[in-house]
Amino acid sequence: MITITTKQEMQQLAKQHKTDGNSIGFVPTMGYLHVGHLKLVKEAKKNNDIIIMSIFVNPLQFGPGEDYEAYPRDPERDKQLAEEAGVDILFMPSPGNMYQNEKSIRMTVLRRTDTLCGVNRPGHFDGVVTVLSKLFNIIMPDRAYFGLKDAQQFAVVSGLVEDLDFPLELIPVETVREASGLAVSSRNVYLNEKERIQASALYKSLQKAKELINSGIQDIEAIICEVKDYMKANMEGDIDYVELLSFPELEQITVLKGKVIIAVAVKFSKARLIDNIIIDI
Ligand code: AMP
Repeated sequence: MITITTKQEMQQLAKQHKTDGNSIGFVPTMGYLHVGHLKLVKEAKKNNDIIIMSIFVNPLQFGPGEDYEAYPRDPERDKQLAEEAGVDILFMPSPGNMYQNEKSIRMTVLRRTDTLCGVNRPGHFDGVVTVLSKLFNIIMPDRAYFGLKDAQQFAVVSGLVEDLDFPLELIPVETVREASGLAVSSRNVYLNEKERIQASALYKSLQKAKELINSGIQDIEAIICEVKDYMKANMEGDIDYVELLSFPELEQITVLKGKVIIAVAVKFSKARLIDNIIIDI
């Protein structure tokens, strides 16, 4: 594995691989790697000649008061894990290199952001699409791999790729979970012992919703109430939202039909966790 730290070198190398006829699978991350990230690499290895992973904690997608400075980082461990997983090129640019010049363009996401995490994180997805547009142009992937744990991100990035005609395929990857059902996340390190146990209630509440839907319940409000009640009874975190929406449009629905997402967000003392399940009805 080679590690590259500037976008100029990275783009040069990506161009060379394209010229040589190699297909590129791209796994964008913010590092502090865990089994969720490594699953994306595993999927990417099935269909591509070269695997490029980026590790970049993107300042643009963090709001004031969010955890940009405190976001967990461990580049040496990340390098080792990426290499073991079979990454060929690890791209770790600095913010100064990625955002070299004063900006002349600002990207604004118009759809799929007025709900879920978009509500309490204004500008977050604008930052996400900005950095991904840059990364897609630098790395020129044939396929880019995204976890469905961040389902809203996947929905927004699908809109980006469609709108701007990026010549790549987006590949969604199922959420990797701990044995308790808790979705693996870099932010889980912020949980204390008690919260970590309680946090499995997020997934269990989603499973509850799935059972209700499978048993033929059609009342969306009733399903949302059950999910909230289950979480309140089993954890002390503050519920940020529980939503049942169409996927990937992320629009309110009145009838349970087609692809739907049930998504939850909960604030614990130091961590805000999200989880979701997507069901095809
Ligand atoms: P992050 O480093 O948190 O920005 O995540 C980088 C990528 O890994 C995103 O596409 C995430 O959706 C994905 N990811 C994070 N956690 C998981 C997980 N538990 N299972 C699958 N993918 C994940």
